[in-house]
Amino acid sequence: MNKNDIIEQLKERIDTRNIFIDEILAKHTTYKIGGAADIFVVPQNKDELIHSVKVCRENNVEHVILGKGSNVLVADDGFRGVVINTGDNLSKIEINDDEIYAEAGAGLISVSYKAYDSSLVGLEFACGIPGTIGGAICMNAGAYGGDMKQVVTEVEVIDEKNEIRIINNDEMKFAYRHSIVQEKDYIVLSVKMKLMKGNKEEIKEIRERLKTHRINGQPLDMPNAGSVFIRPDGYYPGKMIEDLGLKGYTIGGAQVSEKHANFIVNIGNAKATDVLELIEYVNNELQKGYGMRLGVEIKKLGICEK
Ligand SMILES: Cc1cc2nc3c(=O)[nH]c(=O)nc-3n(C[C@H](O)[C@H](O)[C@H](O)COP(=O)(O)OP(=O)(O)OC[C@H]3O[C@@H](n4cnc5c(N)ncnc54)[C@H](O)[C@@H]3O)c2cc1C
Repeated sequence: MNKNDIIEQLKERIDTRNIFIDEILAKHTTYKIGGAADIFVVPQNKDELIHSVKVCRENNVEHVILGKGSNVLVADDGFRGVVINTGDNLSKIEINDDEIYAEAGAGLISVSYKAYDSSLVGLEFACGIPGTIGGAICMNAGAYGGDMKQVVTEVEVIDEKNEIRIINNDEMKFAYRHSIVQEKDYIVLSVKMKLMKGNKEEIKEIRERLKTHRINGQPLDMPNAGSVFIRPDGYYPGKMIEDLGLKGYTIGGAQVSEKHANFIVNIGNAKATDVLELIEYVNNELQKGYGMRLGVEIKKLGICEK
């Protein structure tokens, strides 16, 4: 990749102030882990996002979309290529009767709050999930029995041929922490959701209950990226890991949370390699204890799979 060439092309549509060189990614992930990205670009609107993706694709440059970085583990060496960050912009949210339109960078917590504010039922589950709508679509984010699949009607994407397309719910292949975005090289631009009119006080009550549950059960005071292991049918990874006596087990700066064993927390200057080693250690113990290894929910960035 010729960095200067790419930057020049990005600059055709994007203000220089929103293009960064060797940006440290630890600043942009909830794990507070990760080295530098060669180029870090912050599109301010959909056109700039589309342009960023086009420049990368036309030049065959590695690139990735980073929302709020709440479900990623970034390599200590960072990312060789372009990180396109939607986490603080592209955050328009519009409500029309029982429909919500949100741009990819809109915070899921804000969307959930606005739904509540308009007495709309269906997004209470999302009131404590700290990602963007784009990340939530990619991951089919969910909690407490709800997930994105249940509310999404349409997703606007850039497809692999750089065409803008509208994909409906069925075509999204939503499944547990999965959507078509992970199979094809789709970039989410915006989302339409349909909710139901409800009682504001009742919605408030549910939100408060779920928030309290989260505060009591999750290590929200320490850097983390949510649940680490994917739940296999009929099991709860947190309980499995806790029953193996692994709460508090530490490698370097990475620790199996004392509060919730399916969380790995950064207790101070953790390296990505610490987290990876800890994941491997836990999986080996799961293999010994239960005869199974678990898949990992967190997306790895700049890290080669073995
Ligand atoms: C304290 C805590 C609690 C959490 N609780 C939950 C929970 O209850 N349920 C749950 O499901 N998750 C939970 N998470 C994980 C995380 O918040 C969700 O997965 C969230 O949807 C990720 O959004 P993000 O914007 O941070 O995505 P990122 O972490 O930035 O990215 C995640 C993936 O999505 C891709 N992506 C992001 N934006 C786009 C886009 N516009 N187009 C295409 N791909 C895109 C990225 O390339 C990456 O592969 C939790 C995390 C934390 C830290």
